[in-house]
Parts: sequence; structure tokens; C-alpha cells
Amino acid sequence: MKITVQKFGGSSVADAVRIQKVANRIIQTKKPGEGLVVVVSAMGDTTDELIDLAQQLNPAPPEREMDQLISTGEQISSALLAMTLEAGGAKAVSLTGNQVGIQTDDSHTKARIFKIDPGKMIEELEQDRIVVVAGFQGINLKKDVTTLGRGGSDTTAVALAAVLDAASCEIYTDVDGVYTADPRIVPGAFKIERICYDEMLELASLGTKVIQNRAVEFAKKFDVVLHVRSSFHDGPGTLVTEEVEDMSMEQVVIRGVSLNQEEAKLTITLVPDKPGIAARIFKSIAEANINVDMIIQNVSAQGFTDVSFTVPRPELAKTSSLLEKIAREIEAGEVSVEEKIAKVSIVGVGMKSHPGVAATMFETLAREKINIMMISTSEIKISCVVRAEDGERAVRALHTAFGLDREEEAG
Ligand code: ADP
Ligand code: ASP
Ligand code: MG
Repeated sequence: MKITVQKFGGSSVADAVRIQKVANRIIQTKKPGEGLVVVVSAMGDTTDELIDLAQQLNPAPPEREMDQLISTGEQISSALLAMTLEAGGAKAVSLTGNQVGIQTDDSHTKARIFKIDPGKMIEELEQDRIVVVAGFQGINLKKDVTTLGRGGSDTTAVALAAVLDAASCEIYTDVDGVYTADPRIVPGAFKIERICYDEMLELASLGTKVIQNRAVEFAKKFDVVLHVRSSFHDGPGTLVTEEVEDMSMEQVVIRGVSLNQEEAKLTITLVPDKPGIAARIFKSIAEANINVDMIIQNVSAQGFTDVSFTVPRPELAKTSSLLEKIAREIEAGEVSVEEKIAKVSIVGVGMKSHPGVAATMFETLAREKINIMMISTSEIKISCVVRAEDGERAVRALHTAFGLDREEEAG
């Protein structure tokens, strides 16, 4: 059976009117005898609202309970969409992550899928029902509900497309596709027609939230071509595929600019400068399942050094209390935190063969009088941490400096 997977994001199902529109569109595209799986996110800002509510009642809620709570958003939207489809004369059934057989590890709030048992889904598809899946969630071996990290419905969609060997996986969202930068920040940004997995993976990992990075990882691993497109009209969006020689991707050095405003920076001062200390600090942090991003160690003076690193902001409280404890154990100085920073990154496979890209990036930021706090590079990206308030200006300046601005306005 030919199967298509479609995913609709939170803004596409934000209220009854939008759910109705999505349902109409699904009914139009459903072909008899072909399987259609629709993955939905929670309505509008539901997930943020649930997180706020939890914070009011417990500033450090148990992660298991967080997952139990935030997974409900998708359960609501999937049931509402299924009943709207039924009202429109289609046959539909909503299923939770558990019912779909999405098994994950135990990492609450950022779980990884390790197995999907598509049995029930296939049974429903064979009955010619549209299967509406609550995105963002799975279940661990203890039968506790887990969630897949912010933006995780994208990953649900791609993982289902992979396991069902779907003919296509369409990610419907509130912009026309993947742009050279967030079109809400850079008016001159333009829609990219095709982008390879590696560039999309870097952009997504560095803050381009139009698609979750794990979804791109899955797509690359299982060869799922993604079509990121608007849920408001039928126009083509962006294809995310393997790199092909004659792909209409012009040979550009920089494909796009990303901004991540969701990390925080911690510094531990007067760290004894001797072998094994860095391993000690970062091993404890890794054991607490905290993902560290950038790390810098200062030049040592009189046998001591300072170490700074960044973590996702939701992990800040947990990391900072852990780091206080480590500081006492290793007899280091103080722990300080910078709650709001911005990380701006440029990404492009063309960078591999073009010298001088880093210099242009640093010169551009210098011209804007933007101070760089941390730098990290790989073959196809360069990232700089700057002050939170400089983030958007830095993105615009870099977009212009690398010749990405277009005359026409982004839509
Ligand atoms: P959804 O609810 O559909 O999952 P998201 O809010 O997660 O949508 O992602 C879409 C948003 O991603 C857009 O509204 C846009 O502001 C933002 N975005 C950031 N960078 C980009 C980019 N390079 N191209 C397109 N959108 C981007
Ligand atoms: N509702 C979840 C979130 O807001 C998952 C998603 O939208 O993909 O992060
Ligand atoms: Mg999203």
C-alpha cells in the first residue's frame, strides 16, 4: 500500500477554524486505497502553557510528571482532528504514541525512539482509516509516557515515515519552507528549494526550529525525503534530500544563518589546572544526562584556569547546582551563570573549500561592535556566542555579509 505521512505543527491546529481547514485539506488529499498517516502537534502554545503551569506549582518538577503532563497537548489535538475528519465524512482514528507502539529510552523530556511496532497502525490503514497520531510522545519499557524534546512531533512523523516506508513525508508549518534565516528576523531571507541532510541537520541543531534536528537525523539515516511546506496554501516548499551533484542547489558557500536563544552559559573559576579535572567536571554532568554544547577553557595563570560551557536553558538550574557541588569537591572557585546568551551560526557545505569564511564572520561582528564570547567550528559551520541582545542584529548582519539577502520580501 502506498503510504503518505503528513505532519501539522501547533500553529496549523491552533483553534477550531484551523483544525477544520487542516481536515478539509486532508480529505482533499486522501486517495482511496492509499494509506494516510497524519501526525499533529499540540494546539498553538499549549505545550508552553502547560510548562508554565507546572513551574508555578513546582519550580523543579519531576521529569516523569512533566512528560505525563505535556504529552496531553497532542492527545487533545489528535482526537479533535480525528472527530473533525469523521464529521467531514472521512474514516479516521486517533492514536497516542503508546497505541502506535513508539518505544523510547528513559530520558524523560528528550527521549530517543529505539523501536516502533506499526502493527495497530497498519491494521487501521488497511481498514482505509486515516490514522491521526499524537506527535512528540512515546513510551519507555517501564510503560511511562516519554516526550521527544521540543519540536518532537517532526521526529514522530519522520520515524513513522521510515518504519512504514512511506512514499513521502510532508511537514506542514506556518512558513513556506526552510529559509536562509528565520524570515521573522531577516526580512530579506529567501526560501531554499532543496537542501541536503547535512546542512539541514546543522541548521536544525543550531537553532533553526522549523524542523527538529532529530527528525533530520532519522530522515538521513532512513533515506526519507522531507517536504517542508506551508499549511496555508498548496505552493511547493523545501525538499530535504541527499546531496546530489546536479541538484539545483547553486554552489554557495553559506546556505543559511541560525540563531539559538535557548542556551545558557556557566563558568567555573579558579579550576586547578591539572590532568583529569575537565574529565571530572564533564563526566558528572554527562551522568546527569545534561547535554553540554560549547566549552572553553581559559589560559592558565598560576596553576588555575576558568572553564565556561553552555547548556540548554531548561537544564540551567540542574546544571548549576551540580556544578556548585563539583566546585567544592575539586576545590575550585565560584560558579557564575549567564542565563541569556545567543548563539549565531553560519552553515554551508561549500565552506569546506573556501578559506576566509571565519575571518568574514568575525569582521562582520566586529563592524557591528558585537563582542564574541565563545567560538566553535566544524567542517561546515561556525558558531559564535554573543550577548542575548545582539543575537538578531548579528544574524541580519551575517545574512547580508554572506550575500544572502534577496530583494523580494520573505513570506
Ligand atoms: P510548527 O509549529 O509547525 O512545528 P515551529 O514554530 O516549530 O512550527 O517552526 C516554524 C518556525 O520556525 C517559523 O515560524 C519560523 O519563525 C521559525 N524559523 C526559524 N528559522 C527558520 C528558517 N531558517 N526557515 C524557516 N523558518 C524558520
Ligand atoms: N508540542 C511540542 C512542542 O511544542 C512538540 C511539537 O510541537 O513538535 O515542542
Ligand atoms: Mg516545530
